[in-house]
Amino acid sequence: MTPAFEKLQKHLKQLPGLGYRSSERIALHLLVEKPAKLRQLVEALEEAAANVHRCVRCGNLAEGELCAICADEKRDASIVCVVEHVPDLVALERSGAYRGVYHVLHGKLSPIQGVSPDDLNLRSLLQRVERGEVKELILALSNDVEGEATCHYLTQQFGASGPKVTRIGFGLPSGAGVLYADSVTLKSALEGRREYR
Ligand SMILES: [Zn+2]
Repeated sequence: MTPAFEKLQKHLKQLPGLGYRSSERIALHLLVEKPAKLRQLVEALEEAAANVHRCVRCGNLAEGELCAICADEKRDASIVCVVEHVPDLVALERSGAYRGVYHVLHGKLSPIQGVSPDDLNLRSLLQRVERGEVKELILALSNDVEGEATCHYLTQQFGASGPKVTRIGFGLPSGAGVLYADSVTLKSALEGRREYR
């Protein structure tokens, strides 16, 4: 194959969920079979790269200043569900069980992997709480050591006058998170959330 093909395949292979065979198949499909669609894909990638960024309030994907959820006045902005990553938010939205808003940390605290509070989207969450916008904070972080450490750190940041803090119950094996739960499990996990502090 050509150097350009090898380069394309190498980059495809680095995407989540794609191995050597699937990246090879996609590269061949794009370059050999569908030249018109290849141009459309390049344009979609360029448009997304130029226009999609983090919502200034919650960290979700947005094209304007605020994401569609933060901008939706029908959502209850006083209830904030804290998740690790955008796909967790997507899973909760798909469950249809939640009408509050979110805050995406883009990770969880991990001293072993060198992830400190400054590496996460934490400051803006503390600012939301300080502004008195938040009545309840629902922690929907993974059920492992790092998730637990992140929950503990967060609650330590609030004084006695801080918001009510709850954590969703999973009924899932240790280490599993929101992303891998089905809609029914997520709905009951939200309804069965317990006071965390
Ligand atoms: Zn937002």
